[in-house]
Amino acid sequence: MDLDALVSDAQARIAAATGSAALEQVRIDVLGRKAPLVLALRELGSLDPEERRARGADLNRARRSLEELVDRRARELAEAELEERLRSDRLDVTLPGIVPPRGYTHLIEGTRRDILDVFVGFGYRMVDGPEIDTVHYNFDALNHAPTHPSRQVTDTFYVCDDVVLRTHTSPVQIRTMEAGPPPVYMATAGRCYRRDTPDATHTAMFTQIEGLVVDRGITLGHLKGTLLGFARAIFGAEREVRLRPHFFPFTEPSVEVDVSCFNCARDGSPCRVCRGEGWVEILGAGMVDPNLYGYVDGYDPEEVSGFAFGMGVERVAGLRHDIPDIRLLWENDLRFMEQFG
Ligand SMILES: [Zn+2]
Repeated sequence: MDLDALVSDAQARIAAATGSAALEQVRIDVLGRKAPLVLALRELGSLDPEERRARGADLNRARRSLEELVDRRARELAEAELEERLRSDRLDVTLPGIVPPRGYTHLIEGTRRDILDVFVGFGYRMVDGPEIDTVHYNFDALNHAPTHPSRQVTDTFYVCDDVVLRTHTSPVQIRTMEAGPPPVYMATAGRCYRRDTPDATHTAMFTQIEGLVVDRGITLGHLKGTLLGFARAIFGAEREVRLRPHFFPFTEPSVEVDVSCFNCARDGSPCRVCRGEGWVEILGAGMVDPNLYGYVDGYDPEEVSGFAFGMGVERVAGLRHDIPDIRLLWENDLRFMEQFG
C-alpha cells in the first residue's frame, strides 16, 4: 500500500466533498472500519517489532491528519449550509401576499333580505318561528280540514304523529296573534319542507316569506296596495299587480297574485318568463279567514280584519335573475353562484 498516494487521494476527496452527506461517505471510505488505512493498522500485530514501530507511527500520523481534515471540512460545510438555509428561508414581507377569496351573500339570502327590507320599510315587525312545529299550528289552527290532502304523509314530513317539519311559514301567523292583541303588522321568513320530488320549480326544502296584517277596517284594497308596493320595489317601478280568485284554507277570499311581466319589456323577443301572457304569478294571499280568530284570544272578527300573503324566495330570485331551474340555487356550484356576488 502506497501510504502517500492513499493520503493525497483522501485529501483530494475531502476537499471536493460539496455537502455534509457527501463528506460523511468520504469519511467512511477513508477512516471507516473497512478503509485500507484502518485495515493496515489492524494488521500491525503480524509485523516484527522493529517494522511495527516505524509503520505504526506512519499510519497513525496519516490517520490523525485525515481525521483533522474531515473535522475541519465538516465545520466549513455546516456553516455554509446554515448560511444557505438562512438566506432561502428569509421572509420578504414586501412580497405580495395571498389574498383570501372574499365571501358574499348567497342569492337566496340576498333575495330574502331585499324582500324583507320592503316590509320593514312599510313598518312591519320581523318575527321568527320554529321550523319543526305541531300539527296544531301547521294545520289545525290554520283551518285545514281533517281530510285536507297536504296533511298526508306523502306531502308532509312527520317527526311523529303530531309534529311536522313546517310546510309553510303560516304557523307564525297563529303564534304572533297568540303573543299579543291587534294591531299586527308582521313579516316572517324561513325554511319550509314538503315531500316534493325535486324538479325545475320544486325542492323538498325551500324558503318562504309571509306577511300578516290585522287591524280595524283592513280590506282587500289594502292587500292589493301593499303587494303593488312590494312588486314595484322588487320587480321595477313600472309594475302592476292583478289578483285572481283562488283557494287557501286560512284565507277567505283567497287570491293568487300576478305581477305584470318585467321581462317582456327587456327586448322584443318571445318572452320566456311569462310565455307571452304578460303576467307572472308571484304569490298567494287573501283576507284572513275569520275562523282563525277563533283559535286565539283577543281577536274579535266583528272588530278586526286582516290579510296575509306568502311567497317563495327561490321563485322570486329565479324570476328576477331569469334562472331556469331553482335546483341550481342549492347545488352551490361556485361558477353559477359567483354571478350574483
Ligand atoms: Zn314576459
